[in-house]
Amino acid sequence: MKQLLKPTRRSFVAAALAAASLPMLAACGSAPASAKGNFRIRKTEAQWRRELTRGQFQILREAGTERAFSHPLNKEKRKGVYSCAGCSNRLYSSAHKYESGTGWPAFYKAIDSGAVGTSVDYKIGYPRTEVHCADCGGHLGHIFGDGPKPTGKRHCINGLAMDFTPA
Ligand SMILES: [Zn+2]
Repeated sequence: MKQLLKPTRRSFVAAALAAASLPMLAACGSAPASAKGNFRIRKTEAQWRRELTRGQFQILREAGTERAFSHPLNKEKRKGVYSCAGCSNRLYSSAHKYESGTGWPAFYKAIDSGAVGTSVDYKIGYPRTEVHCADCGGHLGHIFGDGPKPTGKRHCINGLAMDFTPA
């Protein structure tokens, strides 16, 4: 009896472990939205490494996060347009930027409906809305539900992911 039960129990445990590790695989698969999907602009990892600074690459292509309060665009108050540091796609406008106090540039919406795309990211163990450039898939940051009116959204964006052009 004991011999018969053992393998069954083992395979149950194995199945449970496999199921439990699925979200982790999605999280650690170093395949943020940037790597998936059919983006208009696609480049090899080597090309991106050549064109981006190390910091930009870590954010845009590896879904990293810069240190809070570390990027000058956090404090940028001039009028202008924020575009993708990877492909120059226009992402955000100064008209929608606000001071969130979190240490990263924050916007309550993108510059237009086609500028950014979103996905779900489990990187830190619970689901968050990841936001990326709609043209090249470069990771920008996350969208949270604690933003100001009229959208109530906070696009929390890494300064390294963007280039600012004053109006
Ligand atoms: Zn882009």
